[in-house]
Amino acid sequence: MSRNPDPGHETLLSPIPRAEEQSFELSLRPKALRQYIGQSKVKENMEISIRAALKRQEPLDHVLLYGPPGLGKTTLAAIVANELGVSIRTTSGPIIEKRGDLAAILTNLKPSDVLFIDEIHRLHPAIEEILYPAMEDFYIDIMIGEGPGARSIRMQLPHFTLIGATTRAGLLTAPLRARFGIIHRLEFYSHDELAVIVQQSAAILGVGIDQAGGVEIASRSRGTPRVANRLLRRVRDFADVKADGRITREVAMGALAMMDVDVQGFDEIDRRLMMTIIEKYGGGPVGVSALAASIHEDVDAIEDIYEPYLMQIGFLDRTPRGRVATRRAFDHFRVSFPGGQQNLF
Ligand code: ADP
Repeated sequence: MSRNPDPGHETLLSPIPRAEEQSFELSLRPKALRQYIGQSKVKENMEISIRAALKRQEPLDHVLLYGPPGLGKTTLAAIVANELGVSIRTTSGPIIEKRGDLAAILTNLKPSDVLFIDEIHRLHPAIEEILYPAMEDFYIDIMIGEGPGARSIRMQLPHFTLIGATTRAGLLTAPLRARFGIIHRLEFYSHDELAVIVQQSAAILGVGIDQAGGVEIASRSRGTPRVANRLLRRVRDFADVKADGRITREVAMGALAMMDVDVQGFDEIDRRLMMTIIEKYGGGPVGVSALAASIHEDVDAIEDIYEPYLMQIGFLDRTPRGRVATRRAFDHFRVSFPGGQQNLF
């Protein structure tokens, strides 16, 4: 199954990274746990796990990080390796095509190293099976040769730490999930936390920005650091060309309005999705497949990218009978709520 939510979602507010953003993102990635803003519960727990592992001089238990794209799973994995003082090897589920690819990666790890597998739910089932004994007992069985002469040899692996990332924990098979000792869910960031991230990134990029300018960008970033950094970059361009290079609230507002980013951080697909539920389905409930067909999006993109944020801000509810637009959504789009008075205030 192809679960690539990328093509067609290259809007300014998409939490999926664009190819040309890689080096930009890398330059902004915090390296230490203390520079990692927000996610206080996860951070606290990870800090204890890391310290305990260091104290006992043992490798860290396997970690599963889940949550919508752009919230800092890859960043956190790299920080964990950094704090442990070990190397990290990064790969992703869809990249590993053959059993041999994974075997090669595993046998090249050094003791206590971190192996980060992004989109781990997209591993091929036959490849996923190799991970079970590798994670549990640190060995793999490799087939040598083909046909009747084929034989299997067992290879011991160094005790490594697997950090897996996925958008939803429910996408993982039960045997794989059961092999992670530490499981954390990353949450959307508050405006205040995003404002700190914007300031931190601006300092790295050498961009002049005042506090109100940072808050304006933060509040339209869908709770997602990746989006906040992207908007900062675009607003900086605007500030360079249309102002004196410094980002104030007015400059940020002008730039964001020009880019069609509304105050809620909605883009055209969010608006289409919500208006379809409200107008075509009378507010719902509507099944996600019918909704996807109506707005010409795929179900995975709705579930991984759009829905989590719309639910977080209380515009959308998930019920057993389908998706429902909330009263708050009706009010935002200025449509009268069925059976109720429109609340414009
Ligand atoms: P994910 O792996 O969840 O898709 P990433 O780890 O690639 O997300 O994060 C995207 C970008 O957001 C990174 O380049 C990083 O600069 C920034 N970022 C993410 N989380 C944080 C954080 N807690 N503090 C500061 N910056 C962050």
